[in-house]
Amino acid sequence: MSTADLTQTDFFRAGVRENRVRDKAAGSLSRYRRAVQTLAGGVSSGLRRSARPFPLYFAGGAGSQITDVDGNVYTDYALAWGPLILGHAPAVVNEAVLSQLRRGSTYGAQHDLEIEVSERLRSCIPCAKQVCFANSGTEIVQVALRLARAVTRRSKFLKFEGHYHGWDDSVLVSTQPSRERIANYGAAPVPVGMGQRPGCDALVVEWNDRMGVETLFAARGKEISCVICEPMLCNSGCIPPGDGFLEFLREITQRYRSLLVFDEVITGFRLGLGGAQGYYGITPDLATFAKALAGGLPLSALAGSDEVMGLIASGKVVHSGTLNGNPLCLAAAKATIDTLAEADGAVYKRLWRLGTILRQGLEEGLRRKHLPVVTTGSGPVFQIHFQEHVPRTYREMLPINNKLYSDFGVALLDEGVLVLPDGRWYLSAAHTENDIQKTLSAVERL
Ligand code: PMP
Repeated sequence: MSTADLTQTDFFRAGVRENRVRDKAAGSLSRYRRAVQTLAGGVSSGLRRSARPFPLYFAGGAGSQITDVDGNVYTDYALAWGPLILGHAPAVVNEAVLSQLRRGSTYGAQHDLEIEVSERLRSCIPCAKQVCFANSGTEIVQVALRLARAVTRRSKFLKFEGHYHGWDDSVLVSTQPSRERIANYGAAPVPVGMGQRPGCDALVVEWNDRMGVETLFAARGKEISCVICEPMLCNSGCIPPGDGFLEFLREITQRYRSLLVFDEVITGFRLGLGGAQGYYGITPDLATFAKALAGGLPLSALAGSDEVMGLIASGKVVHSGTLNGNPLCLAAAKATIDTLAEADGAVYKRLWRLGTILRQGLEEGLRRKHLPVVTTGSGPVFQIHFQEHVPRTYREMLPINNKLYSDFGVALLDEGVLVLPDGRWYLSAAHTENDIQKTLSAVERL
């Protein structure tokens, strides 16, 4: 069956499935109706609005399972959009947080956990000689860009189409533009929503496009403070760097005296203890971490060389924040990192093994249904695409059959499997072989 034909059909009987979910999730629906009266859009982060049939309300999570307010239990591959590397409510993190909570949630001042977590980051992240903390990925990316401007005394930065670096105006461009908007904007960065400042320091190139990067540097190299990228493009299709592409970025940034910044908000502590830089063996000048770093609590970190981070150390580059480095989140980070590091990072071997079984099983199961399907990504984070060709850039995944994937998600929900709306699947250390087999059986039944 071609992708075009599939758009016309109700392949997963999503209409029937959606009605069944509505019936099973009446408590969520009534809460959602109440929430929209006071909470803008009924959700706390824009993307959550896209959930079908409506945003669910959850009562609790344990390990790989999450339970909604109506008592429906789902095997969770959304994992709160990535942070829950140890699954829901891991005892070791809970205990660390509770024990800290009894001694205070924040001091606005120094404490031992700051040193202990900094030392751990330095020991496992290749580019980390010094680190600094903030609360979200969005914030920490801004620290990285400011440092790059300060070091190079240049104002522009190169980002790639499809890459997401948080919701600040400066970076919220060309994240997932439609074909029409790409055509309308030409080479200019495409803003995502209303109210964003018109001028922007981003220069945008397609992912894996060496020639595009070369050409841009040749024309404007003296203006480019840094190249920022998701070293594996997780936000738009889990598209890995092409052979030698990260090496190329390392080389060209050095050639033009720009910095290379890896945004490891997703890949950090997910592809391994050393993040994508450890996995691919390329060391950037700066790298950002959040999500999995604190196993579900809000913490972000920037890691870099003594020389670059020295500008923060000296106070020449401003980095501040009331809740930065609070002991509650650092207690969670310490417990998370120590758990992930146990037995020489053995948990990652398991995550990769289970991730591969799940990914291959899904691919085979969907192919048996004569669906066009390819997958991308690595072990603990991967993406399912309903298309024939493996995408190498954001544009190559634009033909993705969104409606079909969305129908697939609704059908899975009806079968007790929770996935993100955009095709990305996350695995946690709490998932078991049994979870995977149950999920693959659910796919068989669709
Ligand atoms: N960078 C990347 C690569 C991300 O995936 C995200 C969040 N999805 C961010 C930055 C922003 O992080 P936060 O949502 O914590 O602000």
